[in-house]
Amino acid sequence: EAITVQELANRMAEKGADLVKALFKMGMAVTVNQTIDQDTAELLVTEFGHNIRRVSDADVEQDLDTTEDREEDLQPRAPVVAVMGHVDHGKTSLLDALRGSGVAGGEAGGITQHIGAYQVTMKDKSKITFLDTPGHEAFTEMRARGADVTDIVILVVAADDGLMPQTIEAINHCKAANVPMIVAINKVDKEDANPQRVRERLLEHEVIVEEMSGDVQDVEVSALKKTGLDDLIDKIQLQAELLELKANPDRAAEGAVIEAKLDKGRGPVATILINRGTLNVGDVFVVGAESGKVRAMLDDKGRQVKKAGPSMPVEVLGLSGAPMAGDRLQVVDNETKAREIAEYRKGVIHQKRTAQAPASLESMFSAMKENQAIEYPVVVKADTQGSVEAIVGALNKISNEDIRVRILHSGVGGITESDVTLASASKAPIIGFNVRANAKAREIAEKNGVALKYYDVIYDLTDEIRAAMAGELGPEA
Ligand code: GDP
Repeated sequence: EAITVQELANRMAEKGADLVKALFKMGMAVTVNQTIDQDTAELLVTEFGHNIRRVSDADVEQDLDTTEDREEDLQPRAPVVAVMGHVDHGKTSLLDALRGSGVAGGEAGGITQHIGAYQVTMKDKSKITFLDTPGHEAFTEMRARGADVTDIVILVVAADDGLMPQTIEAINHCKAANVPMIVAINKVDKEDANPQRVRERLLEHEVIVEEMSGDVQDVEVSALKKTGLDDLIDKIQLQAELLELKANPDRAAEGAVIEAKLDKGRGPVATILINRGTLNVGDVFVVGAESGKVRAMLDDKGRQVKKAGPSMPVEVLGLSGAPMAGDRLQVVDNETKAREIAEYRKGVIHQKRTAQAPASLESMFSAMKENQAIEYPVVVKADTQGSVEAIVGALNKISNEDIRVRILHSGVGGITESDVTLASASKAPIIGFNVRANAKAREIAEKNGVALKYYDVIYDLTDEIRAAMAGELGPEA
């Protein structure tokens, strides 16, 4: 069996000319269009290192530059802000208003593209990146996949409507992720607006805003009338300063997938938010279980860019397939490596889906080291507010000094997608008391290995959770 040098090069994802060079060194003078026999082909494959199969995560890690950056290499980066809140409270309107609040002038135009995130340049030249997929589902799903891209959350609460179920969910998601929040009390232009009531109701959820002598920043805005926006931006910048956000721009790029799709004309396209390093056109990368080479990059105005640094969102073309939101992108040396890592991950992802994820061991160990109680996170859903309160009370009672229950979220009603994504990010089980999960929630729970536990007797519930907590502490406890 014979193969042309070019064909072999294609299969190996190497340049034909490089193969010709290698053959020349081996004493064979051939051109890319000539054929070589199988033995020679095999020799070449070995020569280029293609016989090295990656069989473990450790092999893969070797090819990824995951080194920590030195303090002196770090430079300030723009904050990444997400907007959350109840439906119709004005998340989309506020994102649109903020988009127009930068110094649009001075920059050469381009038409607004919805790529999942955008960056605004302020008068003082500083930048803010906004994730423009509102809602906490996307946020928590990304976190569940290991991408902590959000630095600050703006919690939008309509001043006429007040705190609603998704407002409370959003608060719990923020707390679970430990992301600082700025409360934007929206629609203050409305006649029946009552911002003070919003502040008071927030107290019940342990969100104490500045006006109530707390340390959570709050600001009254109207996304419609575009009032209070400068104030909001000031508060974002202040919060960002406190966080001292930094990244090393001079290294191989690492980023996270904000969204990805299969575009009819352009093939697989992903919006990547760069976390550190700089991504260049021509860079070879792996992203989740896909690989690729940056063919082109576009910013949020549809303009071609050659490079993207920390906190910048860009649309990347040149992927082997569409990755998933939250997947990490990492630049690697060459296409062969990238492809092998992606292949390896495709196999592993299949196995992981079926296996139960370990209760976050890392957090357990770090808690042990610091001599704190280990937290056992749960999400509680029940049929009535009375049951919710009874269960939360009972669970708090079974906590002890070694391990304590941490209620990530509790509420009345069936188990939804949002409950599952929240639980998944913290590897928590979901407790359903006289309620069940809907089909979509069941599907995601299965995919992410989230345990759904149904009860109709509180005693059974506390008994089982107590046993599970003891199991978590191990045989020595
Ligand atoms: P989302 O579901 O949270 O994204 O909310 P939208 O941005 O779609 O807004 C829901 C509705 O509230 C729309 O009809 C908006 O025009 C309206 N709205 C948003 N912000 C304001 C505001 O500041 N004042 C008033 N009066 N209406 C607003």
